[in-house]
Amino acid sequence: MGIELEINPIKHWMPKIDNPLLIAGPCSLESEEQAVETAKALVKDKRVFAYRGGVWKPRTRPGSFEGIGSIGLEWLQTVRKETGLPVGTEVANAQHTEEALKAGLDILWIGARSTASPFVVQEIADVVKGTDAVVMVKNPVNPDVQLWIGALERLNQAGIKNLVAIHRGYTPFGETPYRNHPNWKTVIELRRLVPNLPIICDPSHIAGKREYLYEISQKAFDMGLDGLMIESHRDPSCALSDKEQQLTPNDLAKLLDKLVIRQQVSDNKEFATQLEYLRSRIDAIDTELLETLSARMEIVKQIGRYKKDNNVMALQINRWSELMDKRVSLGENMNLNKTFVKILFQLIHEDSVRMQTEIMDQE
Ligand code: PEP
Ligand code: MN
Repeated sequence: MGIELEINPIKHWMPKIDNPLLIAGPCSLESEEQAVETAKALVKDKRVFAYRGGVWKPRTRPGSFEGIGSIGLEWLQTVRKETGLPVGTEVANAQHTEEALKAGLDILWIGARSTASPFVVQEIADVVKGTDAVVMVKNPVNPDVQLWIGALERLNQAGIKNLVAIHRGYTPFGETPYRNHPNWKTVIELRRLVPNLPIICDPSHIAGKREYLYEISQKAFDMGLDGLMIESHRDPSCALSDKEQQLTPNDLAKLLDKLVIRQQVSDNKEFATQLEYLRSRIDAIDTELLETLSARMEIVKQIGRYKKDNNVMALQINRWSELMDKRVSLGENMNLNKTFVKILFQLIHEDSVRMQTEIMDQE
């Protein structure tokens, strides 16, 4: 069951686009010179379609650089004048939004912390109401697709049709090399529920470190996403925020050269492309399945150690038959074949018992 939102394709507000939407620019604007110099280097690369620059910065802890403020809007206007690139910034309350609209910015985006707050999103929606603003909505900090869709709905109800979703990852739980863990499952779910919504990826805030930008960006394209928002600074070592994840415009070009950018699915009706897209989704889901199984096995090991310490047997037959019944009926509710679920859980259980027995046999 889809969710009906009236959404324009990217081409509607960016007619010149014939490639994935690439938005690049510094995490924060720091000076007019830094803003313009970075933009001039970026615009040389014809793959860059728009410029981003944070003016009001949501920082986790007070005392970090919280953005240059309203003056940055003037610098964005200069960037547009000097390079012809459409320009955008993050807005996090009604006042930011009013000022950004007044400055005639081409793109506004709502940050991950703001998307998590329906009050904030509504306040922004009330200001953009009735305009033809382009608004991009980052995923909320927690992997809640409904909250993400809720934000898009609030904007759509305010008459905003130029909408784009941005996947920037989620606050990690447990070990991950990334700053914000990507969760492609939520992206697939968003695509399934709102198929006409353009979705791009922000690999910078997922990665947190330059070294991961390539793998995340490639994955985003393999998943059929419509573009990237990526941070680029003329000299990342001096950046006042997010130093470790920003690329020089030159390194950005090198990254783009390496990426295999597939056709946008919506533009290509050919069977082969569609098949490739669907297969890439299967690949992503299979990866998630294996990650989930591995997380399950870690818990199984913990239970094994716990049982050993308490001198309890590995195989608990009552728990096992109860679990099997529950899983089979849960699977049936999800339209999965009963025999398939049964065999799957027999295999999982068999290996869990093997694992626990091994732990118990260890000295
Ligand atoms: C940003 O884009 O600079 C930013 C703060 O991102 P996020 O809302 O994804 O943390
Ligand atoms: Mn940033």
